[in-house]
Amino acid sequence: MRTEFILEAITAVNDVILHSETELESLDREIGDGDHFINLKRGCTTLLAMRDELASLPPADVLQRIGMKLLSTIGGASGPLIATFFMIMAKVEKAGDISSLSEIAAAFNASVEGIKQRGKANAGEKTMLDTLIPVAETFNRLAAANATPLEIFNAIQQTAEQGMLSTRDMIATKGRAAFLGERAIGHIDPGARSSQIIIHTICELAKQ
Ligand code: ADP
Ligand code: MG
Ligand code: MG
Repeated sequence: MRTEFILEAITAVNDVILHSETELESLDREIGDGDHFINLKRGCTTLLAMRDELASLPPADVLQRIGMKLLSTIGGASGPLIATFFMIMAKVEKAGDISSLSEIAAAFNASVEGIKQRGKANAGEKTMLDTLIPVAETFNRLAAANATPLEIFNAIQQTAEQGMLSTRDMIATKGRAAFLGERAIGHIDPGARSSQIIIHTICELAKQ
């Protein structure tokens, strides 16, 4: 993992989140409370403002500071979960340099496990995990099979899209949408969509 790549990713993710305002806001208005875009935007703005201070730090410290900062800025149900992702990435990076794609895949998997534990949720509950869990699986499987980086990034993007779309037909059992019961059917989960957008963007960056 390189600090420079993390900083580039922050800029790219900020751009794409800002462009997704209308969609993310309406997805969360349909089955939540409408603030998912605002929550993410607040997180992105905070990270952008930290760019200079992060630039001189080793990647483990960058990831750790991002996690801690997001914990106190994003808020909502998604804030602590996204923060957990970065804290665990930081811990794995600190323990021994994440560099090869299979190491990144393993770190991603550990971070998704952290989100599962923190939110006491699993696949099939109509959350961001329906994007993240299949992506972790595809990423680890293809990295272990020595697929090329391009094959891996393309497959991750495709898996993320399928995972996100799979939430449309689900009943939610976690988060605000759980209150809606069957009325949540037919709506894509906002966190699953934002995760997919972010993963798509970072894969595009990694392909360059
Ligand atoms: P809030 O629901 O508090 O307003 P956000 O709108 O920012 O927070 O985030 C909502 C998203 O958080 C949901 O769409 C879902 O993907 C995700 N989410 C909520 N609860 C959980 C959980 N226990 N595990 C995983 N993801 C969750
Ligand atoms: Mg919300
Ligand atoms: Mg809220």
